[in-house]
Amino acid sequence: GEELLRAEAAELHVLAVLAKAERNEALRAKAAAALRSLVRFGKLGPREALALHLLCDGPSRSPARQLLQQALRPAAFKYKVVFHDLEVLAQKLQPTVEAMQKLFSAGAGSYYGDSLFFLSVAMHHIMPREVSRIIQVDLDVEYRANIRELFQEFDNFPEGAVIGIAREMQPVYRHIFWQYRQEHPRTKVGDPPPDGLPGFNSGVLLLDLEAMRQSERYNRLLEPAVVQQLASKFHFKGHLGDQDFFTLVGMEHPELFYILDCTWNRQLCTWWRDHGYSDVFEHYFRCDGHVRIYHGNCNTPIPAE
Ligand code: UDP
Ligand code: MN
Repeated sequence: GEELLRAEAAELHVLAVLAKAERNEALRAKAAAALRSLVRFGKLGPREALALHLLCDGPSRSPARQLLQQALRPAAFKYKVVFHDLEVLAQKLQPTVEAMQKLFSAGAGSYYGDSLFFLSVAMHHIMPREVSRIIQVDLDVEYRANIRELFQEFDNFPEGAVIGIAREMQPVYRHIFWQYRQEHPRTKVGDPPPDGLPGFNSGVLLLDLEAMRQSERYNRLLEPAVVQQLASKFHFKGHLGDQDFFTLVGMEHPELFYILDCTWNRQLCTWWRDHGYSDVFEHYFRCDGHVRIYHGNCNTPIPAE
């Protein structure tokens, strides 16, 4: 019949983490705003469906379900929701990310719950084969554009790129790379855009899982000895999880990354402006053009429409 002739809907995979939400009203409110705006601006083709992956700890699952029900009700597109168990994923991730935890975590590292901060770097090991691309987004964001347009950015990846990511918009990596910068006075490491290498922000991540699986170079960089060597070359010690890894790797292998325009992850945090970097802050923070995703990082309020 007709059903058999119709092609199956192409799924656009989006993933978000919602943990410790049970007793965090502020977090739930942000997540609700993120999902509502995603739905309001979202417009998909007739043969497309949104596959929303939500990674929750046990207690967060019920509030998550409630949030989703409300947010998705007005959706003008097909969708499905897939819940993943955070504890299961964290254990699965542990062996891959153990070395990274020591280099890019605030605490002593090694607690398996920590491994979640590195979920994105090993997403190609986590998601089933049939998922070839996925977009991971923070929940402290609001959409001002159709997420389908963000999927089209995958088509701009140059040969060899595995991840699409926007630049970090504060001088935090200028700070972290201070020793390397002192030893290499003409380096671009930590310098502001457009010519410098300010590092990355992981609030919006385009993960080309197929490319991540296939890239020998990328998978080499996940090996403990390789990432340790890179960290020591750059005197790097961070605390921001996956974005530290992407930032450090990007200094040595920029070709692995496609740089998303700042309007796809317009970060709003200004903490570093008031902590010693007011003179250069604006060079990092500036972002021209119509904002498509606001990112209210470090709990910064997002301007109303
Ligand atoms: N997150 C969560 N529970 C928490 C803290 C964080 O589920 O208690 C998730 C949420 O999706 C959030 C993301 O982790 O957007 C990253 O944390 P956050 O956005 O607060 O970090 P920032 O962008 O301010 O560095
Ligand atoms: Mn965030």
